[in-house]
Amino acid sequence: MILILLGPPGAGKGTQACRLVNTKGLVQLSTGDMLRTAVASGSPIGLEAKAAMDAGQLVSDELAVRIIGQRIAAGEGESGYILDGFPRNLAQAEALEAMLAKQDMNVDLVVELKVDDAAMSRRIAGRYTCAKCNEGYNDSFKPPRVKGICDVCGSDRFVRRPDDNEETVQARLAAYHEQTAPLAKYYAQRGVLRHVDGMAGIDEVWRQIEAVLEAA
Ligand code: AMP
Repeated sequence: MILILLGPPGAGKGTQACRLVNTKGLVQLSTGDMLRTAVASGSPIGLEAKAAMDAGQLVSDELAVRIIGQRIAAGEGESGYILDGFPRNLAQAEALEAMLAKQDMNVDLVVELKVDDAAMSRRIAGRYTCAKCNEGYNDSFKPPRVKGICDVCGSDRFVRRPDDNEETVQARLAAYHEQTAPLAKYYAQRGVLRHVDGMAGIDEVWRQIEAVLEAA
């Protein structure tokens, strides 16, 4: 199963992808996570990606396709993949189709998380993750049960993404509407697009995603 989560920054793609990994055995491929790892390690890919990421713009298609292509070619997802943050535009969608075709696969489902932009700015401004296990939190909507301690692994170290600031968020939302949102039409034409209400709480969004998977 190849499942794409589509939605602007802050829509909850990463959170829901995590549940799909834990319950359905799918492998999560997040180009944003891969690029952040590359930037942190100072690798050539990271050096190439950093300026665009800091400005809230997309890195080149060539780079995004290369990093995800390496993982798909490695064939690590026996039950399939959840793509989170890829494809981001039509050129990437077409490159993905070509990559998957080489392995006799295609995109089975695209789940679009419908949300509104104003709420996304608020969500992003407050979000952070556990530095150890990557569990996501939010100052307003989901603080840890015990202040300063991760619910999942007990760590007391948390990190905030450098591009989760008001100025960059506006650029990221604009990039989404200009370049990524048109993918909904592309996948609707292929009969694989489904919608869930990304404004609902995390558990309700998950319930809707499960319903989409069951109906597929
Ligand atoms: P994300 O974690 O998906 O919000 O991505 C963070 C940043 O990484 C984006 O603002 C882009 O600069 C870059 N990025 C992630 N995925 C892609 C992609 N598929 N194509 C181009 N740039 C990407």
